[in-house]
Amino acid sequence: MDDCIFCKIVAGDLPSEEIAHTERVIAIRDINPAAPVHLLVIPRDHIPGIAEIAAAPEGLLDELFGLANEVADKEGVGDSGYRLVFNNGPDSGMLVPHLHLHVLGGAPLGPIASAGAGRG
Ligand code: 5GP
Ligand code: ZN
Repeated sequence: MDDCIFCKIVAGDLPSEEIAHTERVIAIRDINPAAPVHLLVIPRDHIPGIAEIAAAPEGLLDELFGLANEVADKEGVGDSGYRLVFNNGPDSGMLVPHLHLHVLGGAPLGPIASAGAGRG
């Protein structure tokens, strides 16, 4: 995908701080961290979102979550705890339409969601 930021990072056409990688997945530090530790675990192939996961190659999700676990340990939040987030679609705030797993930790994270929470 020519216009995709994460495809460019995967291709090495945009710089990033890589934390670790596997054959099919990379983990980088988020450029605009929302927590003391904020990493992004990204499949190298352009998968637009959750709807396309069913068509993803076998084992890719295992690799994705395995690398998330590995980099959480590497960044020192394996024991203190961390949150894994997939944004998907406009209301989630998804900015980059290339599937990616956020790894957030390093401090108490607070409630999962704010806007729209509760039923009044
Ligand atoms: P989304 O809102 O799509 O789930 O998350 C996209 C994330 O990518 C955001 O947290 C944003 O800070 C991060 N991001 C956007 N552009 C870049 C970039 O060029 N490099 C890195 N490392 N992170 C980026
Ligand atoms: Zn992409």
